[in-house]
Amino acid sequence: MKIETVLREHKRSITPERVKMFDFFTHKHLSSASDIEQAFPELGRASIFRTLRLFLKIGVIRRVALGERGENYELVDEDSHHEHMKCSKCGKVVSFESADICQKIFSEAQKIGFHVTEHSLSILGVCKNCMT
Ligand SMILES: [Zn+2]
Ligand SMILES: [Zn+2]
Ligand SMILES: [Zn+2]
Repeated sequence: MKIETVLREHKRSITPERVKMFDFFTHKHLSSASDIEQAFPELGRASIFRTLRLFLKIGVIRRVALGERGENYELVDEDSHHEHMKCSKCGKVVSFESADICQKIFSEAQKIGFHVTEHSLSILGVCKNCMT
């Protein structure tokens, strides 16, 4: 995915801050708003949130909620859709793919006439290292 193409498709202008933030997402699995703020303090909080909202709207990123105050964002990649597990002790995030789980989500939604536009499964727990 090239951000310039996506922005053009949605008739949005290509600004340096949009390109910068997109680039940041391509180098990191999960980022929170404060990660972005730390990396680009010059952008300012309001403009970071504006860009995040735009990216969500045009489907560039998705929201991943990982427990309390765990709101993160990651790039949407249709080819590598995955779910997350987070260790509540060390904070490590492990991702996994399961077509079975996703299919189940879609079939359950269909049963109740719900159209799923986005989903992400977050599992909280304790990792192997922290258990011992
Ligand atoms: Zn992920
Ligand atoms: Zn751990
Ligand atoms: Zn899924």
